[in-house]
Amino acid sequence: MKSVRPIILVHGGAGPRAMTSPQGDCLRAALQVGYHLLDRGSSALVAVEQTIRVLERSGLFNAGTGAHLQLDGVRRMDASIMEGERLRAGAVASIEGIVHPITAASRVMEETDHVLLVGPMATKFARHFKMERHRIGTRPRRISYGAMLRQGRSARDRHGTVGAVALDQAGIVAAGASTGGIDRMLPGRVGDTPIIGCGVYAENETGAVSMTGLGEGIMRLAIAKEICDRLRQGKSPAQVARVVLQRLVTRIQGTAGALVITPQRRFTIAHVTPNMAAGWWDGKGEPTVKDRFR
Ligand code: ASP
Repeated sequence: MKSVRPIILVHGGAGPRAMTSPQGDCLRAALQVGYHLLDRGSSALVAVEQTIRVLERSGLFNAGTGAHLQLDGVRRMDASIMEGERLRAGAVASIEGIVHPITAASRVMEETDHVLLVGPMATKFARHFKMERHRIGTRPRRISYGAMLRQGRSARDRHGTVGAVALDQAGIVAAGASTGGIDRMLPGRVGDTPIIGCGVYAENETGAVSMTGLGEGIMRLAIAKEICDRLRQGKSPAQVARVVLQRLVTRIQGTAGALVITPQRRFTIAHVTPNMAAGWWDGKGEPTVKDRFR
């Protein structure tokens, strides 16, 4: 088995707001969990899932315990995970009441022949596997559909989605992401995060990508796959991410940030938002965590 020096990258969302200090500490703790797993020989897939679980549990990000509510007052979450060797992937969308949607996504990949489960049936799947439930329930809001439609016209990115990409000692890459969505979204709205090729992608011939930002734009340009396709042409992750994110801005006024890692250990953290709470660690010195990467 080849032995590659592992590395992990993590993010806690891209947007106008600066990272808080508890968020910075939590990203550092998540990197440590992920890197130590990689260092002990765990797969990139396991490291990505466990890293994201730290962030979901914290309540400091728009994911898991901290996921925001949709316009009807209900918390519906999306997550996905993918590995680059066999292109296995799993995802859940509009799942309710559990702390770790990323683990539900991973279970869809491991326990079924499907890639994506949605809504009440995704929740039922998680219940079947006895996944930890949110301790605080949500109370549906009394609001007419017309009022929700009007409010939904001003949907904005909430900032605080979480994600990770990793390279393991076997030279395999993986990517994952988990979110509570965006601000003022209609019930049932699903963004890029659980859509393979949009919010995440991983293939060992090119690399692994985890996206954050306004999902409506990321989906229309299938950004994660677009970045991987351009990596195939031999350009660096930094060059590719810059070009693709710039195209998102000029073509459809989108906003996003990306984590990119290649099997050759080249990586970048790039964003076209004022801030992106993110970091990386390869075991040397202290983890790097900051909210501007330019
Ligand atoms: N991409 C997420 C979504 O559109 C939101 C985010 O990353 O902030 O649901």
